[in-house]
Formats: sequence, structure tokens, C-alpha cells
Amino acid sequence: MHPVVKILIGALMVVVGVYSTATQLDKLLYLAKGAIGPLLVLIGAFIIWLESDEWKMIREESESERSVQQQFQPANNEEVQEEVKEQVTQETEEEEKHACPDCGKEFDTERGMKIHRSQKHE
Ligand SMILES: [Zn+2]
Repeated sequence: MHPVVKILIGALMVVVGVYSTATQLDKLLYLAKGAIGPLLVLIGAFIIWLESDEWKMIREESESERSVQQQFQPANNEEVQEEVKEQVTQETEEEEKHACPDCGKEFDTERGMKIHRSQKHE
């Protein structure tokens, strides 16, 4: 079917719908009044279902919070161990001090020691 034909049918439906709504407004209001009761029941039941589900989820979350923390702790320990390893490697690097041959002052890098020598002893 051509899109224009569909649009025309849709427009016709809108026109007919508006016309019937305008002409039979009394019946529509009567229908709306009749629908309020069941609608309230449906909305109320929906809210109860939705909120009770959410409440249950919150309760489950708080209950599983401890186990979740326990699950995360090993990962944190691994991170801490990695940090410790990094510190150890830094310490081992620091152990290789570059002492100034002129005054014995120690430097982390050979470059730092050379700069010190050029500034203080030359
Ligand atoms: Zn020196």
C-alpha cells in the first residue's frame, strides 16, 4: 500500500474519531466514569506490584551486600599486592644509589648526581 494512502486513511480515522467524540461526548463521559473504577484497581495493583518488587530488590541488595564486599575484597587485595610490588621495585631501584665521588652525597639517578657535581663541584 502506498504511504500516501495510509496517511489518508489515518487522517480519515482522526477526523471520524474527533467527529464521533464531539457528537457523542455524553457517552464518552459515561464510559470514562465507568472506566475510573477498574482503572483505579489496575493502577493501584500496578503500583503495589512495582513497589513490592523494588522493595524486594532493595532487601536482597542489602542482604547480598556483605557477600558482594567479600567478592570484591580479593580483587582489592590483588590491587594492594600490585601496589606493594611496585613499591618494592621502586625501593630496589632506590637501593641503586648514585653517590657523588666528590662529597659522597647519594642521588636516585646518575643524571641527578651529575647535575649535582656540575653545580657544586665545578
Ligand atoms: Zn658532591
